[in-house]
Amino acid sequence: MNRNLFLPGLKDVKINKVEICEHSIHLYVEMPVKPHRCPRCGTEGRKIHDYRIQKIRHFKWFERPTVIFYRKRRYVCQACGKRFAEENPFVERYQRFSKEW
Ligand SMILES: [Zn+2]
Repeated sequence: MNRNLFLPGLKDVKINKVEICEHSIHLYVEMPVKPHRCPRCGTEGRKIHDYRIQKIRHFKWFERPTVIFYRKRRYVCQACGKRFAEENPFVERYQRFSKEW
Protein backbone atom coordinates (compact mmCIF):
# COMPACT_ATOMS: atom_id res chain seq x y z
CA MET A 1 0.00 0.00 0.00
CA ASN A 2 1.22 3.46 -0.80
CA ARG A 3 1.20 5.05 2.60
CA ASN A 4 1.27 8.55 1.21
CA LEU A 5 -1.66 8.03 -1.04
CA PHE A 6 -4.50 9.32 1.04
CA LEU A 7 -2.86 11.84 3.33
CA PRO A 8 -1.58 14.46 0.94
CA GLY A 9 0.72 16.89 2.69
CA LEU A 10 1.08 14.53 5.60
CA LYS A 11 3.77 12.36 4.10
CA ASP A 12 5.79 12.17 7.30
CA VAL A 13 2.88 10.65 9.14
CA LYS A 14 3.25 6.95 9.88
CA ILE A 15 0.07 4.99 9.42
CA ASN A 16 0.07 2.16 11.90
CA LYS A 17 -3.29 0.70 11.15
CA VAL A 18 -6.29 1.22 8.91
CA GLU A 19 -9.68 -0.06 9.97
CA ILE A 20 -12.31 -0.09 7.31
CA CYS A 21 -15.70 -0.27 8.91
CA GLU A 22 -19.04 -0.39 7.25
CA HIS A 23 -19.72 3.30 7.58
CA SER A 24 -16.39 4.83 8.40
CA ILE A 25 -12.66 4.48 8.15
CA HIS A 26 -10.32 4.67 11.11
CA LEU A 27 -6.71 5.60 10.66
CA TYR A 28 -4.19 5.10 13.45
CA VAL A 29 -1.25 7.39 12.88
CA GLU A 30 1.80 8.81 14.59
CA MET A 31 4.77 10.95 13.71
CA PRO A 32 8.23 9.39 13.39
CA VAL A 33 10.56 9.95 16.34
CA LYS A 34 12.99 12.75 15.67
CA PRO A 35 15.13 15.11 17.75
CA HIS A 36 13.23 18.01 19.24
CA ARG A 37 14.54 21.20 20.74
CA CYS A 38 13.37 21.95 24.25
CA PRO A 39 11.18 25.07 24.24
CA ARG A 40 12.55 26.09 27.63
CA CYS A 41 16.31 25.58 27.46
CA GLY A 42 16.97 24.75 23.81
CA THR A 43 18.65 21.40 24.41
CA GLU A 44 18.00 18.94 21.64
CA GLY A 45 16.84 15.47 22.53
CA ARG A 46 14.54 12.65 21.62
CA LYS A 47 13.60 11.11 24.94
CA ILE A 48 9.95 10.15 24.86
CA HIS A 49 7.76 11.00 27.82
CA ASP A 50 4.40 9.53 26.89
CA TYR A 51 1.63 9.33 24.33
CA ARG A 52 -1.89 10.64 24.13
CA ILE A 53 -4.44 9.61 21.59
CA GLN A 54 -6.03 12.53 19.86
CA LYS A 55 -9.12 11.89 17.82
CA ILE A 56 -9.47 13.96 14.70
CA ARG A 57 -12.28 13.93 12.23
CA HIS A 58 -10.97 13.98 8.74
CA PHE A 59 -12.25 14.45 5.25
CA LYS A 60 -14.30 11.85 3.55
CA TRP A 61 -12.30 9.12 1.93
CA PHE A 62 -14.08 6.96 -0.61
CA GLU A 63 -17.30 8.59 0.51
CA ARG A 64 -16.86 7.39 4.07
CA PRO A 65 -16.15 9.66 7.00
CA THR A 66 -12.64 9.12 8.22
CA VAL A 67 -11.55 9.36 11.83
CA ILE A 68 -7.88 9.74 12.59
CA PHE A 69 -6.54 8.50 15.89
CA TYR A 70 -3.35 10.46 16.22
CA ARG A 71 -0.94 9.01 18.74
CA LYS A 72 0.51 12.28 19.89
CA ARG A 73 3.92 11.92 21.44
CA ARG A 74 5.38 14.02 24.22
CA TYR A 75 9.07 14.41 24.80
CA VAL A 76 10.89 15.22 27.98
CA CYS A 77 14.01 17.36 28.02
CA GLN A 78 16.93 15.53 29.57
CA ALA A 79 18.59 18.76 30.56
CA CYS A 80 15.78 20.57 32.38
CA GLY A 81 12.95 18.06 32.60
CA LYS A 82 10.50 20.14 30.56
CA ARG A 83 7.78 18.08 28.96
CA PHE A 84 6.46 19.19 25.62
CA ALA A 85 4.40 17.92 22.71
CA GLU A 86 6.14 16.90 19.55
CA GLU A 87 6.22 19.11 16.52
CA ASN A 88 2.76 18.77 15.20
CA PRO A 89 2.15 19.88 11.66
CA PHE A 90 -0.63 17.39 11.61
CA VAL A 91 -3.49 19.29 13.20
CA GLU A 92 -2.58 22.53 11.50
CA ARG A 93 -2.47 20.86 8.13
CA TYR A 94 -5.61 18.97 8.84
CA GLN A 95 -7.43 22.23 9.42
CA ARG A 96 -6.20 23.51 6.11
CA PHE A 97 -7.21 20.33 4.35
CA SER A 98 -10.58 20.22 5.94
CA LYS A 99 -11.28 23.53 4.26
CA GLU A 100 -10.05 22.25 0.94
CA TRP A 101 -12.08 19.11 1.20
ZN1 LIG B 1 15.15 21.80 28.52
